[in-house]
Amino acid sequence: MRIHCNSCQQPITDSLYLRSKLVGTRHTEYEPDGTPLYSYVKYTMPKGAFTRLRNGKPVIVLDRKSLTIPYPEYRSGWGCCDLDWAEVRCTCGEVLGYMQYDCWQTMNCVILDVHKVEARNLCYITRRFRIN
Ligand SMILES: [Zn+2]
Repeated sequence: MRIHCNSCQQPITDSLYLRSKLVGTRHTEYEPDGTPLYSYVKYTMPKGAFTRLRNGKPVIVLDRKSLTIPYPEYRSGWGCCDLDWAEVRCTCGEVLGYMQYDCWQTMNCVILDVHKVEARNLCYITRRFRIN
């Protein structure tokens, strides 16, 4: 299964599998003497996987390494230490979503608008165009 751009129809990801949820990893910050200060959970998606979420509106979530279209490299001033709200733009010019990889962001993922992209099962497409 690949994610396609609805505007130009081209695939924008490698072949992906569906995961039921994000991967949560707990991080803890410590005082210099080793006393725990606070902890928090970061959410990521492994390369090659995607999930569907409904946080306000339905979205498709994946890792930027799964994209086959170019995405911006971090430059100083574009966030604290990584991209915070960078647009994911298809080579046709359509903005498909955004990515949030900065240190302060909880979900370090690409978030795609389901109205701009489509997850297509290649088997389904093969069936659709089969001539009987
Ligand atoms: Zn496109």
